[in-house]
Amino acid sequence: MKAVFGFDRFRLVQEGICNASMDGRDIVGIMPTGGGKSLGYQLPALLVPGCTLVISPLLSLIADQIMHLREANVDAVMLTGATSKEESMHVYQRLQAMASGAPDAPDIKLCYVTPEKIAKSKTFTSALQKLYQVNKLARFVIDEAHCVSQQGHDFRPDYQKLSVLRQLFPNVPILALSATCPPAVLRDLLKTLRMPALVSGTAATPTGTVLFSAPLYRKNLHYAVLPKPASWRETIHVMTDYILKNHRNETGIVYCHSKKDAALVANDLYENSNHKILTGVYHSEVRDDEKQRLHERWRDGRVQVICATIAFGMGIDKGDVRFVIHHTKSLDGFYQESGRAGRDGKDADCVLYYRAQDATRIAAMTCGDHNGDDKVMSMIKFASDIEECRKIQFARYFSESSNLSLNSWETEEEDALARCGHCDNCTRPPESIERRDARLPAWQLLRLVSRQQFTMAQLCDLARGVGGGNAGAAGGGAKGKGKGRSKGKVAVDIEEVAGGKVELSKEQTEVLCVRLLVEGYLQMSYAPTAYSVNVYLEPSAKAARFTR
Ligand code: ADP
Ligand code: ZN
Repeated sequence: MKAVFGFDRFRLVQEGICNASMDGRDIVGIMPTGGGKSLGYQLPALLVPGCTLVISPLLSLIADQIMHLREANVDAVMLTGATSKEESMHVYQRLQAMASGAPDAPDIKLCYVTPEKIAKSKTFTSALQKLYQVNKLARFVIDEAHCVSQQGHDFRPDYQKLSVLRQLFPNVPILALSATCPPAVLRDLLKTLRMPALVSGTAATPTGTVLFSAPLYRKNLHYAVLPKPASWRETIHVMTDYILKNHRNETGIVYCHSKKDAALVANDLYENSNHKILTGVYHSEVRDDEKQRLHERWRDGRVQVICATIAFGMGIDKGDVRFVIHHTKSLDGFYQESGRAGRDGKDADCVLYYRAQDATRIAAMTCGDHNGDDKVMSMIKFASDIEECRKIQFARYFSESSNLSLNSWETEEEDALARCGHCDNCTRPPESIERRDARLPAWQLLRLVSRQQFTMAQLCDLARGVGGGNAGAAGGGAKGKGKGRSKGKVAVDIEEVAGGKVELSKEQTEVLCVRLLVEGYLQMSYAPTAYSVNVYLEPSAKAARFTR
């Protein structure tokens, strides 16, 4: 390690992964972005005979790795869509020579490919087969392995085809690496890649997949959820102020929901800041040469803030990203996107703009996803929690500790359940939290939804007696087309049903609705319309007991 890579000691779970690798185990390694995943396979690759095949989704990531490895005099090659004919030929010749045991042919230690090589190239798989027959295929490494799962936030169809690896090469161990792998994705990943069930890393069982999970948070990242105003204009204002006040002339990323939003935010931030914030736009439909230009301008500081969809992400090699702003719809996304900040180890802010009303908007956007509901609720819980440390919330979410036996390594350096001390919730003065007894308004809201489904906006208006009185507001919206629950235009009389109006502000009423969702008194039901999905609130069994 010292001689080739120049490192003095292992970081986090690197040593465990290297040892398990030398033992030929199947491994899942979860480490934060920038945590040092590469060493976990590069060091063993040098120590065992044969070739380690690394599957990685992005050309830029691969090119970067190859460059570093060659600087360290490691014999590494790549085969991607961008590899020239001559170069590919050369690689194939060398693989052939390795397979035929030519005495003066040195092993290729590491071969990097994009997943479509495995999914689509017969030539390549047959070259692998020849290596396999002479035991020269040391290991498969799958980088960004969460792309295998449709439940992850970045599913890629070519990754799903990686199931052939275990079918064609049953004896070659697999190392799956990721920075974001919540339990559902992990289960999916093991199944798709046909890896055996997890075993505890300390047990001396000779089979089973070993899981290594490093502390999931980085000390230099400061997480915060900030209140988002109701209107677009106000939101742009708030973001402009935030950037100018906290990160003037610093590099940042604003993640947006859609390509259209990304373009709008870029324009409006630039205009609203009187051209002080230099923005750029990045999404999947930006032309390749434009992307290239944007990267360059970002690197040399002519663009300060990139407004992007999640298409902008993996492989960003800019270390000094000082802030990342999100309008994100899942915790996986928030965590993963935040990982792009502060890669140089210096302080960086990861900000989520959130408003209680977003809860149902997020639900509407993710409706139809597998396990959508759980994910939405996790996100809503996270965003609306103003007390629990963000680091602890992430740790819980990602380990679901009751179900997974994590290796003891994970807490060696950091106590996963100790408060971080520097997120918004750790630094919020307790006396700034306003507490009030909300039993009456809660009861009122639950009484209303017990009569009819409402969207959150409808419910808040109706409960507060806004928008044309009781019956009007009710009849106006919730037609409940979804799932055959049509209830028609039922007039709801607030006086009769709830004993009067809710005496809360609009914001407070929304916050209360979200709290009732999080606590399981309210649940969401989805009603697809021609253009979108309406999300209605309805009472749960728990609510029925409360309002009886
Ligand atoms: P990841 O793939 O997890 O994002 P990398 O493997 O690219 O991270 O490593 C991130 C950085 O950390 C690299 O610059 C690498 O050289 C450095 N690094 C990795 N392991 C160690 C170590 N044990 N000691 C010091 N630096 C390390
Ligand atoms: Zn904290």
